[in-house]
Amino acid sequence: MKIICIGRNYSEHASELNNPVPTEPVFFLKPDTAFLRNNQPFFMPDFSNDVHYEVELVYRISRVGRNISERYAHRYISGIGVGIDFTARDIQNRCKKLGLPWEIAKSFDGSAPVSNTFINVEDFDDLNQISFHLEKNGVLVQKGVSGDMIFSIDKIIAYVSKFITLKIGDLIFTGTPTGVGSIAIGDILTAYINNELLHKTKVC
Ligand code: MG
Repeated sequence: MKIICIGRNYSEHASELNNPVPTEPVFFLKPDTAFLRNNQPFFMPDFSNDVHYEVELVYRISRVGRNISERYAHRYISGIGVGIDFTARDIQNRCKKLGLPWEIAKSFDGSAPVSNTFINVEDFDDLNQISFHLEKNGVLVQKGVSGDMIFSIDKIIAYVSKFITLKIGDLIFTGTPTGVGSIAIGDILTAYINNELLHKTKVC
């Protein structure tokens, strides 16, 4: 199982980190050792002084495919959940400055908590109106709507599958809206789709 993450997929978030809005999807990978489920706690790594939350809609792949065309991409998704793309922002900023890859900032152990529940695609009235949000210690910190993505999930699947074969169970993190911020030990993060609580992470 692999985790594919899209960066800079909401224009307000690209602006808040002073990044240009991309003309093609930007993606990176997290290994299966990044995956946390069952509301397992997140252990703060000792190599960063500034770990950020990024709440994101997560799409689960249900068929093997490569070179998938955009018009058939929806056939490759079975469910939609929510996850947090934990990012060591201080390290990522250093990597960006030096033109280096982001793995040490993005792909460390436990950096991809994901809800156990994935909602069936058929259960949504409108796939462009999926709202999601994150609360930190009960306070709203991020909210987004799927329709605000710069690249839709269909475009993402078409683009990524040009380079990498998608397999059953792969997860695609689709980018974060504005409002990212730091976490501290003891924080409780709760993530929602359409106001339904689907995931909780305790920072330890
Ligand atoms: Mg992200």
